[in-house]
Amino acid sequence: MRKSFVLGCCIVFTGMLSHGAPVSVAYEPLPVGSVEPEGWIRAQMTNDAVNGMAGHFIELRPNYGSVSWVTKNGNAGAGEMGGNWIDGFVRMAWLTGNPVAKKKAEDFVKDVLGAADPDGYIGNIKPEKRFQSRMTGELWMQSRTYLALLAYYELTGDKKVLDAVVKATKLTMSKYGPDNSPFHLTPEERATGRKGRDRLVNGHCLMFVDVLEWLYRLTGDRAYPEFASFLYEDYSSSDDVDTMDIQLRSLSNMKYPFFWHGVHAVEHLRVPLFLAYADGREPYRMAAENAFAKVKKHITPGGSCASDEGVMDHAPLPDQPYEYCTTTELATSLESALQKTGKMKYGDMVERAVFNAAQGARTPDGKCIAYLSSATLPEALESHDIPYAGAHRHKLSPAHDVGGACCSANAVKIMPYYTCAMWMKSVRDGGLAALLFGPSKVHTDIQGVPVTIEEKTSYPFSDTITFQFTTKKPVKFPLTIRVPKWAGKTTITAPGSEVSEAEGIRTVTKTWQTGDTVRVDFENPVRGEKLVNGEMAISRGPLLFVRSWPSKMVPLDTQKFSVPGFLEYNVVPNIAYNTTGLFVDPSAKDFGFSLRRNPKGSEENPWALSPVELVGVMRNATRGDDYRQTVTLVPMGATLLRFAGFNVWPFDDEYFKPHQSPDCVLPTQGIK
Ligand SMILES: [Zn+2]
Repeated sequence: MRKSFVLGCCIVFTGMLSHGAPVSVAYEPLPVGSVEPEGWIRAQMTNDAVNGMAGHFIELRPNYGSVSWVTKNGNAGAGEMGGNWIDGFVRMAWLTGNPVAKKKAEDFVKDVLGAADPDGYIGNIKPEKRFQSRMTGELWMQSRTYLALLAYYELTGDKKVLDAVVKATKLTMSKYGPDNSPFHLTPEERATGRKGRDRLVNGHCLMFVDVLEWLYRLTGDRAYPEFASFLYEDYSSSDDVDTMDIQLRSLSNMKYPFFWHGVHAVEHLRVPLFLAYADGREPYRMAAENAFAKVKKHITPGGSCASDEGVMDHAPLPDQPYEYCTTTELATSLESALQKTGKMKYGDMVERAVFNAAQGARTPDGKCIAYLSSATLPEALESHDIPYAGAHRHKLSPAHDVGGACCSANAVKIMPYYTCAMWMKSVRDGGLAALLFGPSKVHTDIQGVPVTIEEKTSYPFSDTITFQFTTKKPVKFPLTIRVPKWAGKTTITAPGSEVSEAEGIRTVTKTWQTGDTVRVDFENPVRGEKLVNGEMAISRGPLLFVRSWPSKMVPLDTQKFSVPGFLEYNVVPNIAYNTTGLFVDPSAKDFGFSLRRNPKGSEENPWALSPVELVGVMRNATRGDDYRQTVTLVPMGATLLRFAGFNVWPFDDEYFKPHQSPDCVLPTQGIK
């Protein structure tokens, strides 16, 4: 970690003046649709797309439908939430192959494309208000829909859709520059305010870079990273934006903690990262490195970033809230870091966030999510008030009122994005890489030979993965397999192959033919991880194991949604509870726990009833120093209420001190 970095006496405006040279990435993503979900991932995605909130989101929030693109009514909720939803849903529909979901997604996409103007404009803003993103948030709204269209292009191969996105993007790019800043308000705008409400520009608009990155990958056109560099420099030098954590001047100093809106911080991570590779100049490399070093300080035990709207330098306490949007955007940025840097630690971080924080903030039937959740969660109530943010975020809902149901739309994206990122092409050796695990099937061409690899496993509920090959004809290539840091002893069984080892990976090379298999066995020893408050969390593999607490879902306003079967709930404990008496003994073998398979567990819906649990013996000090109690822990993702942190035996109050960044200097608006 760089402790400090002196960028210079002023911000270097490199974007409009010169451009760098690209740096090679470690892995190339495969087109969307190359990786199909199987097993529990397919079952969950299919249920979500047909019966769950994902399949009914537009019925729950009719204003977010494609009507906004057709009428160009400027609806900001349609731009963000409708856009995020269709981006996730179009992937869900094709990845599961469900005809009803495909029809629904296709109708939306066709409406958006059909509403394109003759000049190529795709968006939901009336002509006289276009290309003033600093006032309307237009770049943000365009970016979400364009991602959905690009996914649709890769899923269907319809070249017309790519052409339409290229045309619309080039049009937008042509409208901004030194004379029309996306992020600096004019003096008059600053005086009157955006929408008369505040004077801040929507920092989400920086995420137009997501579109530029994808189009650069597809076309190699340098105009895209050049415009991305312009956007980032313009954003970085603005005092008018609503969030500043990822500005170059904030990232140039490791003493500035993440402080502003969490979703912004974690989605913005991808911007300097993309530029560090596509542009290659030093300020971007420094910014990317420091940004990912900073976010690590705020990763809560379930793997998401601390964010009860703001990061606010929050410590990653077990009961620290995180937002669903933050989890999705963090996972997406970590997937991008894994792809570009080739550092496998980012794969470990993705799995932690997706299997714990994300699964632990939704109901197994896919009908509700929590806007805010936490690893330790003794109750989840609508009335739970968060300083600066207010209430209404902890209940379970298919579409929260706060944030315009942002989290519901983002919850639709997380598993489709995860699925797409599981497999990538290795730039180094031209082979395939299994970078994130789970039941799946990848289809691609290697040296012109069609290859399918089925990944047979119930991971993360199994320590064994079997890769089964189908090839049109024998073809030699390396298969790279990520070895998570937590894996312990790892055994690869692949008859007739050469196996080599590097940091975090094993590479298995062979002339593959149909019927060949590679079996991977991870030991996955039980881990005890010290939390910042001195408690200990218990994990095994990517899963955080917690003490589930008996609870009931109590329906709130039953008239709220007109769609049958969709309600909001408080989750209340059946009995009052505290864990203060329970102690983990770190000197015990495996912290006193061992894995047990639950024969009643569900392979299809493991988050409803986990097929695995940890059974162990803990001290219960409230009953005397020598009293031992048998305790069963289950994956965080399979619980509604839970306790993730336990006292450590012998009790050590040294750890109970408040968190503050060393030499913390909180940035204020307008750092120079
Ligand atoms: Zn949200």
